[in-house]
This record gives sequence, structure tokens and C-alpha cells, in this order.
Amino acid sequence: MTKAVRILGLDYEIEEVECVSKDELRRGEINFLTNRIKIDKTMPRDLKNQVLMHEIMHAIFDLFGYEDLCTDENKVQSIATALHQVIRDNPKLFL
Ligand SMILES: [Zn+2]
Repeated sequence: MTKAVRILGLDYEIEEVECVSKDELRRGEINFLTNRIKIDKTMPRDLKNQVLMHEIMHAIFDLFGYEDLCTDENKVQSIATALHQVIRDNPKLFL
């Protein structure tokens, strides 16, 4: 079954793959033209979720038109890490 995530009203397909990119070592990737998110399938579940949150933050910033934020990997990663951790540490709060 294909997983999907709805972000600001748009559906993104989540695909777990053996290799995200042949050009460089990557844990995840989002394609804004096809609305597909690739995640490295070999990672532990918790890391997959964190990487997914990273790609979700890229999508949110892209949809908001925040190009500077969208291309700033450090900011994307720090916000994604923080959000993932808060949600993970308070699971009942978000159900
Ligand atoms: Zn990124």
C-alpha cells in the first residue's frame, strides 16, 4: 500500500526506496513537480519519521512561497527535528 501525506490540501505520495539519489548520499527527497517524497527504506522507523518531517517542512515552505527558508537545509532540518521530537514525546496530545 502506498503511503501518502496531505500537506496544506495537497496529497504527496511517500515512497520508501533502496536508493534516494544515485548522485549523492541522501536520506530523503521531495519532488515539487510530481508531489512525491522518497525516503530511504533502510533507516530505522524513528529516523524515517524525522526525515519525513524534514520533507514536509520543505513542502510547507514551498507552498507558502518561502523560497529562502525552503532552500535553507539547516533551518528546515532544525525545525523538522524540533517538531518531530515534540510530537514523538507527546503522542497522546496529537491524536
Ligand atoms: Zn532538505
